[in-house]
Amino acid sequence: MTLSKNAEKKIIKKIKRCQQIIFRETGLEFSGPPTENVIVCNAGIATGLRQEVLVDAVLRYGVSLKDVELPAGKSYCYLRFYSSQMAQAALTAMNGKAPLGQDDCVLLMAYCLKPPTTKSRDAQLCTRGLPPGLILLPDFIDEKLELELIQIIDSNDEKELEGNLKHRRVKHFGYEFLYGSNNVDKSKPLEQSIPLVCNQLWDKLQKSHPELGWHVPDQLTVNRYEPGQGIPPHVDTHSAFQDPIISLSLGADISMDFRDTKGNHLTVDLPPRSLLIMSGESRYGWTHGITPRKMDVVQMNNSLTVRKRGLRTSFTFRKLRDEPCQCQFHSLCDSYKKRCEIRSKHLRENAAKLELENVHKVYNEIAKHFSETRHSPWPRVETFLRSLPTGSVLIDIGCGNGKYLALNPQSAALGCDRSDELLKVCTGRGLNVLQCDCLALPFRSASADACICIAVIHHLATEERRRQAISEMARVLRPGGRALVYVWAKNQEANAKKSSYLRQNKHNNKPSGSEGDSPQETIPAVNYLLDSMLPIHTNRTQFQHQDLLVPWKLRNEEQEKKATFLRYYHVFEKHELDDLCRAVEGISIEESYYDQGNWCVVFRTKE
Ligand code: MN
Ligand code: ZN
Repeated sequence: MTLSKNAEKKIIKKIKRCQQIIFRETGLEFSGPPTENVIVCNAGIATGLRQEVLVDAVLRYGVSLKDVELPAGKSYCYLRFYSSQMAQAALTAMNGKAPLGQDDCVLLMAYCLKPPTTKSRDAQLCTRGLPPGLILLPDFIDEKLELELIQIIDSNDEKELEGNLKHRRVKHFGYEFLYGSNNVDKSKPLEQSIPLVCNQLWDKLQKSHPELGWHVPDQLTVNRYEPGQGIPPHVDTHSAFQDPIISLSLGADISMDFRDTKGNHLTVDLPPRSLLIMSGESRYGWTHGITPRKMDVVQMNNSLTVRKRGLRTSFTFRKLRDEPCQCQFHSLCDSYKKRCEIRSKHLRENAAKLELENVHKVYNEIAKHFSETRHSPWPRVETFLRSLPTGSVLIDIGCGNGKYLALNPQSAALGCDRSDELLKVCTGRGLNVLQCDCLALPFRSASADACICIAVIHHLATEERRRQAISEMARVLRPGGRALVYVWAKNQEANAKKSSYLRQNKHNNKPSGSEGDSPQETIPAVNYLLDSMLPIHTNRTQFQHQDLLVPWKLRNEEQEKKATFLRYYHVFEKHELDDLCRAVEGISIEESYYDQGNWCVVFRTKE
């Protein structure tokens, strides 16, 4: 394709304009005669140009490319060729013609001297690190074994190797790896188990990495990737296979992409005969995949080079797993998802029973000890109470030992709680209390000026019940009445300030067990209460789950025995309490804040 004289003139004019802008920004020196450096003046990261698309287009003109650089956030980029002749060939073919710019507009190109080094180059280099837990052992096997392994596959019936995948050829040993579910059917072992020649790998690995707690694999998937073929990003199903996943690369290099759930993306080059060990975080918390393309952009001597792909064969070894996965990488964990499903079904179906067993009965058992640990009022609750006009009628819903009831003598305070033992503490102090459930308050509608409900509705087991509790508060408040609600926050470190709950951890040399709980040094494996799948929390550690059981250890002095009681909690995510209040009609949120490990809301009923 050639351009008309007129079109050519227009292009030259446009390029001049771009050059001026880029010169002002970077000081880049341009060249009239061809050089090996070319700048694309009007396309880059900022216009949505992708590196491999550009590289692919250049290589189509039969020239090879030494280096490509797309500076972050810029609408230009650099190409470096092995010679000025190659640069000239590419520029002649593409300048003003290749529609790779924004909205398919043509590329504008010019020769230049060495591009200035930019920060983005460093940024690109550091994306070459390894995800945590990933081990890459280059030259793990020699060429002889490499050939032997490739031949095992080649000697197989061609049809068999076709597998059932369109994009690449696959063969399984031990068990079939089912793409789609990334799992195996354990009930259907294959006739062919892993070739015996692979055993030497395990001896060698055992010697070089005795620290890896791995088992001899029982499942092998062989993949053959032609140039241009790839595999979508995925995680090998957590519940199906143990840690680590081990993969041997044969035949040719390839780049594998690793991505975590926070948006980090690392590219790892897998040379032939290398062994890739995905363990720990890299096995559970990162997806891996191979982008289908014909070349990879790789780092060489501190610069980026394009490497054409060859025929690559991978041997991926796995060990089947029987127990559910207990990892911390929840968003990629199928075992975690399954536990969540069982748990939420259990909560829906057994909410009232759970609250009876793991809230009401427990508070009755621990009432005395609990009351001893609850004396100082939280300052912001006190401020709310003191802000009430003289003569206000206040209801403290879930008043516990009544520590807030006598704070403002100018108001008429009435407390209520489910626990008769805690109510006994209140009556002993001469406070006005009665027994009731916060889901059905025994008060007339619009009868109170204010309500407080401190650390109560996080003991209700479903969202519907928590909302019902807010509705009840709204109902008993007069128009224009105000309520203050506190619930435990899941994130005990919100606002970067540790809550007193975490501060009481042993690390901070605070007296331990001040709440009757025993502190722990590390996060242990999670225990679950059978059937309910409710995790049992380790006290003084960050919450890992929203619905959980929190132990309360009680020392029985007479019997010198320790008893542990499990209290059910639903700990709140940020905004969750706000959302709950918004779902209740006739109230509006006046204030919403984080205080001492709690999410807090002041709401007002409409006048
Ligand atoms: Mn995989
Ligand atoms: Zn997992």
